[in-house]
Amino acid sequence: MTERKEIIETGWNFDNSYARLPKSFFTNQNPTPVHSPKLVVLNHPLAKSLGLNPQAIESSDGVEIFAGNQIPKGALPLAQAYAGHQFGHFTILGDGRAVLLGEQITSSGERVDIQLKGSGRTPYSRRGDGRASLGPMLREYIISEAMNALGIPTTRSLAVVTTGESIIRQTEEIGAILTRVAASYLRVGTFQYISNWGTVEELRALADYALERHFPQVVPDENKYLSLLKEVIKGQAILISKWQLVGFIHGVMNTDNMTISGETIDYGPCAFMDTYDPATVFSSIDIHGRYAYGNQPKIGAWNLARFAESLLPLIHVNKDQAVKLAQDAIADFNTLYYNNWLDGMREKLGIFNKEPQDKSLIQDLLNMMEKHGADYTNTFRELTFDNLDDMSLFGTTEFTQWHEMWQARLDRQKETKDSSYKLMGNRNPAIIPRNHRVEEAIEAAVKKGDYSVMQRLLNVLSCPYAYSPEQADYATLPPPSTSPYRTFCGT
Ligand code: AMP
Ligand code: MG
Repeated sequence: MTERKEIIETGWNFDNSYARLPKSFFTNQNPTPVHSPKLVVLNHPLAKSLGLNPQAIESSDGVEIFAGNQIPKGALPLAQAYAGHQFGHFTILGDGRAVLLGEQITSSGERVDIQLKGSGRTPYSRRGDGRASLGPMLREYIISEAMNALGIPTTRSLAVVTTGESIIRQTEEIGAILTRVAASYLRVGTFQYISNWGTVEELRALADYALERHFPQVVPDENKYLSLLKEVIKGQAILISKWQLVGFIHGVMNTDNMTISGETIDYGPCAFMDTYDPATVFSSIDIHGRYAYGNQPKIGAWNLARFAESLLPLIHVNKDQAVKLAQDAIADFNTLYYNNWLDGMREKLGIFNKEPQDKSLIQDLLNMMEKHGADYTNTFRELTFDNLDDMSLFGTTEFTQWHEMWQARLDRQKETKDSSYKLMGNRNPAIIPRNHRVEEAIEAAVKKGDYSVMQRLLNVLSCPYAYSPEQADYATLPPPSTSPYRTFCGT
């Protein structure tokens, strides 16, 4: 009777399939209680879609759950073990400051992982304090929700609470916990961990689990582990092409930060590119530009090769055969990625069909943007508005020539110009989370406890293709600065 009441009141409805996997995959771990939690952001639409009752989860009892002070009925908190290549170097990791509460089964039967980030130390914390600071948690909230609205697969942000405790970083900062939602928190690094330190049976259990959760369409009489590899390759090819198309730079594409589900995960030093330049890097720790904008597809392939290596014992009993099959699958990544990107670029230019010259038409535009230091998002935005006055790029002779070629290209397809511009409006965001706007929102929240700036930003970012008048303000570039924009890992 009590259990039923709980489900009706809050809507939390947990299952714990991960906790039923072999014990070496995780450590049972409760969050560490915090002093005086306060809910500062709650994602109402997401809560509703998960079958949660916003009033109940917003209440003081509900907030205790987001703070880790109470464990919701049915949850079995655990910290997941994983490994990963960090900037190319293999190391053992794991949830050092997060716990998986369990899997919420929504009213439509969907299963999603609910994780608290910043919830205290775990056996995988190494020297860390297991905590998170408010600024980076708000940053993850803003960017992940913006990504979702842009139509890019991503983990979601459900709530942020402040803990009432300060944490020590460079200075004393406000402690916070982010509740994140994911198709699952299985990472390439999860496979690397089991492959290196587990048995083949454990690896098979993990692979079967991933197949069942994410790729139930894979039929068992094929080489299903090779199919798993191919599905993950396909998902990442689609994901990274979407990143490139909107100018998103993840910043720390270590193998532990790459999901099996194909969702973007672990928003640390990520940011959106302003001026088009493939060499763009924001992260202060990415000194050699390993994770620069233009390198992301290449790094994606590198990470997937590490995933393939971890699956080799399952792919074929004969190692040489396994390597050959895996290499062939990895070789397809570039084509899959490129075709997705090319199709996306065609749409950004209002092109419905395919012509071989499209590649050079697109590349010429990108080259011009780079040469003239043009803003990536706004170039496409102004082309969508057919407003060719505001940007200096549009005044150049080479652009005028390109524009003629582009218009001629549009004339060669059967669709009307109107439908082309409509397609462009649906593919070219009017706004992205501009770095200075994100910083401004975080600063108001952290320094003044004023969340209204962030709420306004979240509001406009929730409909990036709306082209509404109130968005115009958010499309403007940051004031010129002598020092480049830098992001930090946000631990
Ligand atoms: P990230 O850079 O957030 O992807 O984290 C890399 C690794 O460091 C993961 O194993 C995290 O769990 C761990 N980590 C990050 N911050 C902390 C922290 N404050 N305390 C303990 N572990 C942490
Ligand atoms: Mg990570």
